[in-house]
Amino acid sequence: MIEASCHCGTVRLEVIRAPRVLLDCNCSICRRYGGLWAYYKAGSVRLRYRRRDVETYAWGDRMIRYIRCSQCGCTLHHERIKGTANSPIGVNARNFDPVVIAKARVRRFDGAITWKFLD
Ligand SMILES: [Zn+2]
Repeated sequence: MIEASCHCGTVRLEVIRAPRVLLDCNCSICRRYGGLWAYYKAGSVRLRYRRRDVETYAWGDRMIRYIRCSQCGCTLHHERIKGTANSPIGVNARNFDPVVIAKARVRRFDGAITWKFLD
């Protein structure tokens, strides 16, 4: 298992393999968070934190929420609010050890307007 951790270490999660592709999205929220997103099936990500140690953010149609550490503020992942084990979960790969993502391909995604890849 490969672990991602917030800065203070309170909020952690584990994935089964290193990401091969990372999404760099320019939508209104992703550009502010500065995340690089690695997608996994929700059922394959092991969340290692207590609900009381995180805060969430959702807006608009409230389909997705972003989860961050309530201590240090690092955003760990985003998920469908009414998701299933097969729903995608976006893990912020910035919270992995940099070695884990060193060889991953970063794809720029236009989440702001066209919802298409820019590369
Ligand atoms: Zn933290």
